[in-house]
Amino acid sequence: MDTAVGIDLGTTYSAVAWVNRDGDPEIIPDALGETLTASVVALDADGRPVVGGDAKAGMTGGETEVAHLFKRFMGNPAYRLPLGERDWSPPELSAQVLAHLKAQAEARLGWPVTHAVVTVPEYFTHPERAATLAAGDLAGLEVLRLMSEPTAAALAYGLRPGPAVRRLLVYDLGGGTFDISLVEVGPDEIRVIAAEGDNELGGRDWDDRLIGELLRVLPPDDADLLAAHPGVLLVEAERLKRTLSARRAADLRLTIGGRTVRAAVTREAFEASCQDLLELTGQLTSKLLEEARLTWADIHGVLPVGGSTRMPMITRWIERTSGKPPMGGIHPDHAVALGAAAQAAILLEAETRLRLPGPDDGSVTPLLRLSAPRQVSNVVAHSLGLIAENPEGDRYLNSVLLPRNQRIPSQATRPYQFWLKGSGDDLMEIFLTQGESDDVQDCVYLGRYVVTGFPASGSSRQAVVDVTYAYDDSALVEVTATERTTGDRLDVNVEELPSDVPDRFLEPPARGGSRLPMTVYLAFDLSGSMSGSPLQEAQKAAKAFVSQLDLTTTAVGLIGFSDRVDVPLHATSNAARIERAIRKLSVGTTGYGNATHPFDDLRRLLTDDRHRKFCVVLADGVWERQDHAAKRARLCHQEGIEIIAVGFGHADEKFLRAVASSTEQALFTQLGSLSQVFSTIAREITEAGPR
Ligand code: AMP
Repeated sequence: MDTAVGIDLGTTYSAVAWVNRDGDPEIIPDALGETLTASVVALDADGRPVVGGDAKAGMTGGETEVAHLFKRFMGNPAYRLPLGERDWSPPELSAQVLAHLKAQAEARLGWPVTHAVVTVPEYFTHPERAATLAAGDLAGLEVLRLMSEPTAAALAYGLRPGPAVRRLLVYDLGGGTFDISLVEVGPDEIRVIAAEGDNELGGRDWDDRLIGELLRVLPPDDADLLAAHPGVLLVEAERLKRTLSARRAADLRLTIGGRTVRAAVTREAFEASCQDLLELTGQLTSKLLEEARLTWADIHGVLPVGGSTRMPMITRWIERTSGKPPMGGIHPDHAVALGAAAQAAILLEAETRLRLPGPDDGSVTPLLRLSAPRQVSNVVAHSLGLIAENPEGDRYLNSVLLPRNQRIPSQATRPYQFWLKGSGDDLMEIFLTQGESDDVQDCVYLGRYVVTGFPASGSSRQAVVDVTYAYDDSALVEVTATERTTGDRLDVNVEELPSDVPDRFLEPPARGGSRLPMTVYLAFDLSGSMSGSPLQEAQKAAKAFVSQLDLTTTAVGLIGFSDRVDVPLHATSNAARIERAIRKLSVGTTGYGNATHPFDDLRRLLTDDRHRKFCVVLADGVWERQDHAAKRARLCHQEGIEIIAVGFGHADEKFLRAVASSTEQALFTQLGSLSQVFSTIAREITEAGPR
């Protein structure tokens, strides 16, 4: 009998849920009826691990053999916590919590629990997710999927009756992380549209402020005594913080070593000390709305999730900022586990059509109520990229390949030019990153991916390697590579990061002879006749074009022209910027006619450029001053700028030939084939060797 549960593996508290026989998600309490389990591990007198409240009790007892907050260190391979005879890794400690919850569920249900959906903060990066998966494995659970906490909460919310479509923000402030997600709940689908967050901001920071407040108001002797017992202080501060969620003032009364320490804290003073933390969450929320181009008027409500949203300062902020009281109806501490249980049921239902044991009469019950949304789609809050040289070859940068906030699973393939020695031991290395900035110091390094398996050919040659980066359903990263000329799948191995990463990327790259940097401008006719589907197809073609370029050696710029010329993008290798500029192209920004041509601006832009230079001109009509334009295009040819002219619709074929660098570089096509033509051009200029 397979049973799948949903587990909210929290920084401070965890919970487990299942979908009951009525098809509703339900929390599974422990033997004492507690629904939350402290994410704390300790060893008992016999050296056996204990989890939860019993372990937490050890913290106030002043015992040092207690591990907590280890979720903050998931994915950090160097982190170890001493407990008993040995050091424990964060996944090992998390596995203890998972195994405890598994046993709790089995005891309550009366049969084995085999599968689980485990939740992680939206903002968890690949190493943190991989560590969570490893923890599930260690606990003897088959993890069906890692689900982000806000998505789980939104799913739990989506199971409740309400208007057909709701757009909401899930404000998730837990013990150690903050995530804000924009979610659309429909009758059949729950869709996360975009997400932001900070994985080092949570209730713990509020605890720290309260500790600061306590130490500030206490007489120095008492403050010193407390400071010498950090475990006790932390537990007390968290307790006081909770009291302050319900009352305007709270008292500390503690006896340590025969001395009693007393202090009073008001909610007002506590809130004042945390104002900046609240503002941080506000800034991230504004950023998310801005990126999604939405305002508060577009949001139906804010769903608070995570224990820390119980603080009145948070609910007041939500009400003040959104103009509506926070959405209620789900226990904030239970929503995530309930949503995970629903997701587990959906997955198991889809995969195996398994049914849970029915009531005693032996009949079976569906896993999840039939009316519930079955589709859950998510995005990843991080862009995936790799470290590359800029096209000038004088600096390393983080080159984004799979931009953030794309629906997962998703993947992108990009070609890389690579100089093979041909001796059979060629090795290409990729430093894969997660992060938005192109600064090599600002990203998370996912690993050194080593590509091998190039055949020994005995002679050196230029190869094109197509590298695919993918996010799976759990937002785990996978890298694969194929050599284009042979079509062979290459071997890709993840290796440990050398200790000099990222420092080594601060130095200028060594000069190699194999790089063929180039600059390509796409010059698009944006006159009135491009309105509607021609522009859309041109944008698609531009995207297809860029996806076939090696952006570690190629910079791409955009020119728009009709009555005037505009340069919406100067040549760059930043995929996200290129993508944005393509998306923003619109008809009319340079007038609606055909009075001008792009070639003078092209020459100006490329005067000091020492790379191979290309321009792909796209036209759909007849230009007013064709002879003049053709003359200016010839100046470009003389200056080493290769022009490829692509026409469709009413474009004049003869004129295209006059503009292009050679007859073969004048291409006339149909609108529906533009993307294919542009991809082919990109492939050809990428594969072209030194001229
Ligand atoms: P979670 O990771 O969602 O379990 O959230 C745990 C965090 O919520 C911890 O930092 C708790 O201190 C905090 N928390 C739980 N209950 C309250 C409360 N009533 N008032 C303030 N914070 C709370």
